[in-house]
Amino acid sequence: MVKFSKITPPVEGEKIEIVKDKLQVPENPIIPVIEGDGVGRDIMKAARRVLDASVQKAFNGKRKIVWFDVYAGEKAQAKYGELLPQDTLKAIKHYVVALKGPLTTPIGGGFRSLNVTLRQVLNLYACVRPLRYFEGVPSPVKHPENMKIIIFRENTEDVYAGIEWQKGTKEVKKVITWLNKTMKTKIRSDSGIGIKPISVTGTKRLVRKAIRYAIENNRKSVTLMHKGNIMKYTEGAFREWGYDVALKEFRDKVITEAELEKDYNWQVPPRKVVIKDRIADSMFQQILTRADEYEVVATPNLNGDYLSDACAAQIGGLGMAPGGNIGDFVALFEATHGTAPKYTDKDMINPTSVILSGCMMLEYMGWREAAELIYKGIQETIKQKRVTYDLERLMEGATKVRTSEFGTAIIENMR
Ligand code: NAP
Repeated sequence: MVKFSKITPPVEGEKIEIVKDKLQVPENPIIPVIEGDGVGRDIMKAARRVLDASVQKAFNGKRKIVWFDVYAGEKAQAKYGELLPQDTLKAIKHYVVALKGPLTTPIGGGFRSLNVTLRQVLNLYACVRPLRYFEGVPSPVKHPENMKIIIFRENTEDVYAGIEWQKGTKEVKKVITWLNKTMKTKIRSDSGIGIKPISVTGTKRLVRKAIRYAIENNRKSVTLMHKGNIMKYTEGAFREWGYDVALKEFRDKVITEAELEKDYNWQVPPRKVVIKDRIADSMFQQILTRADEYEVVATPNLNGDYLSDACAAQIGGLGMAPGGNIGDFVALFEATHGTAPKYTDKDMINPTSVILSGCMMLEYMGWREAAELIYKGIQETIKQKRVTYDLERLMEGATKVRTSEFGTAIIENMR
């Protein structure tokens, strides 16, 4: 039995188990929830109401999420005197599936990102970000409905590994001296240094997840997005190892673009997933001009970070884009935006990102019916033009509603 120092698990509810490599979800699973800093309080309140209502309605009261509040960020600092207590990590690991609001990260100095630490400590190696356009949402492109990409972003390596030395320190001098003397590089002595590790292990498990998803969900293609023309042994290797996984582990289910051109006159054989690769900069152009040619995108950490926000801009912005950090089984679903400090406790911000992350969580648990109700609720509410400030300022004739009112409208519109 897992022991916590300052939190007590709810008495009702059961734990999600992993049985024969599959999640076994009870009718009343205990789900740890980190409310988060800044606007976390507002969006999480609305999200919990919407998720509870959808489960109640979809399963006629037979199923229920039992929320278990755990702490990170400012609230953890106040309760534990530290930002990311062991209790929180233990709870997420033990209960397998969790939901999280945004957490503050200082820029430049100060502590490292708690989000990055959570992903690394819990080995949540895939950051999964699906994009879904709701009709009526204002968009800067002509055909936002073409944006149906799901991004699988590597979540533990790359420049996010946190291996950095500050300019002028004893450590950076040692690194620069060693590199310049031993490796014959010409790094300026007034440089800061960061390391970008990309491994076979990290790449293959990520690309494997992306291809499996494409096969199980009838997606037409998986694109490996990289900057391998410049960073040959990291990003270039990501591309090479990605093709390796595809061709060694999924040979009968995939076909590469090169094979299509050489032997198939570009005609995709039935039930084959096309594996292609694109250089990162060209990908940013393509998502604007030909988004419909891309379905699943697998990419190293930093590319994925940039790409997911650029894609989100087409479907209504950060307030509309969900995400999940997923390992072999443990999964932490979260709003993709930050704490938006100027809106803290104003009941203003758009809660859709964390609500849709909750939908991803429901689907991960196999409770798709509840997620579908929420999608319908959101779509109907947007059609009625009852939206939060971020969408209202871009929509003609819209009524501005509060975060809490938007949540209530979604619940009313679940049919
Ligand atoms: P941010 O919190 O995402 O907010 C930037 C702007 O994006 C907001 O001012 C707002 O723009 C818009 N926005 C964000 N969320 C929205 C929502 N739900 N609905 C409508 N608009 C939304 O980014 P930031 O200001 O750069 O970062 C603040 C803090 O959050 C930092 O400490 C950062 O490190 C942290 N952060 C955390 C996470 C995470 O926990 N996963 C992710 C990113 C950043 P307008 O004012 O123009 O409306």
